[in-house]
Amino acid sequence: KRRIGVMTSGGDAPGMNGAVRAVVRMALFSNCEAFAIYEGYEGLVQGGNMIREMHWEDVRGFLAEGGTIIGTARCMSFMQRDGRRTAAKNMILKGIDALVICGGDGSLTGADRFRTEWPSLLEELVERKELTPEQVAPFKHLNIVGLVGSIDNDLSMTDATIGCYSSLARICEAIDSVDTTATSHQRAFVVETMGRHCGWLTLMAGVATGSDFIFIPEKPVEDGWEENMLSIIRKHRALGKRKTIVIVAEGAIDVHLNKITPTQVKDILSKAGLDTRITTLGHVQRGGQPAAYDRILSTLQGVEAVKAVLEATPETPSPVICMIETKIVRRPLLEAVAQTKEVAKAIESKDFDKAMRLRNAE
Ligand code: ATP
Repeated sequence: KRRIGVMTSGGDAPGMNGAVRAVVRMALFSNCEAFAIYEGYEGLVQGGNMIREMHWEDVRGFLAEGGTIIGTARCMSFMQRDGRRTAAKNMILKGIDALVICGGDGSLTGADRFRTEWPSLLEELVERKELTPEQVAPFKHLNIVGLVGSIDNDLSMTDATIGCYSSLARICEAIDSVDTTATSHQRAFVVETMGRHCGWLTLMAGVATGSDFIFIPEKPVEDGWEENMLSIIRKHRALGKRKTIVIVAEGAIDVHLNKITPTQVKDILSKAGLDTRITTLGHVQRGGQPAAYDRILSTLQGVEAVKAVLEATPETPSPVICMIETKIVRRPLLEAVAQTKEVAKAIESKDFDKAMRLRNAE
């Protein structure tokens, strides 16, 4: 029987539990054994009780739970070869040679690196007499499959990452709340949203709440934006709008790559005579129950991840499970990560059209 491990790594995202549940149950359904690795790579390095066999009922109730029940961590020791060698030893002791990782691009990069090094890590373990040749013999290859868990929706080659629609719903609820008080007092609110270098949450929240103006990293504002923003807001006010909502993504910049801050925007609106407040949504955006979309996405992708494990050959590059035009598809993990990094590079080199193209590319 194959033994498949599942873990969550990097920042948490609503829907990660759905992914764990789907991997565990699909593994059991496929006549494999399932193991949860607690606290991300930390659990892999520590081994022992941090790697636990999971039965059907162990993931009961996971689908509707936010965050990640099996925990996540940023693990410095897995960044070192020594840590990865210990992780390989712990996996072999548990008989696991396939890992499904739900995390961001860092976690997925680490996983693929682990797979590449796997044969040499095993050789080292034998040389150091930590394991016998007989113990390592059945575990020639490591299978890695990635699932993208991130509220930011920042991975290229997928239309949605697990967690992004829950976060978007939370942002919209928060802006709706701000909206009622803004309308009552005819105030302006500057709302800061997460997303790091990706403007997806902000762009979609802007559309979904009918905001007056947004700032995102991929389409930085040009010189004279202050007056442009004010003229749009004045136009809206002249049409009878009693409130103003401006959303600033945490990675917002102008065309010269200067950061746009909520305070800067507030000062401009205040000077123009609007009673302006800042609302920083912070970690509220990551919390709470997963939206229906993320439950579905994580379930379908978890099922596909197990299929990918069972179909993998030593030659197949590690896949990441994506969603393109409502279809669950596999893409080469390293290519998806590389393309995502290209977006940041394109922004740094001020090629904003290229950044947009790469974000949308399949
Ligand atoms: P998020 O998008 O939420 O930040 P992430 O997966 O990108 O998620 P990271 O902090 O970059 O988050 O990575 C999580 C963990 O993955 C790290 O703490 C480390 O243990 C492991 N990891 C990341 N990059 C590598 C790497 N290049 N080699 C080995 N391990 C890595």
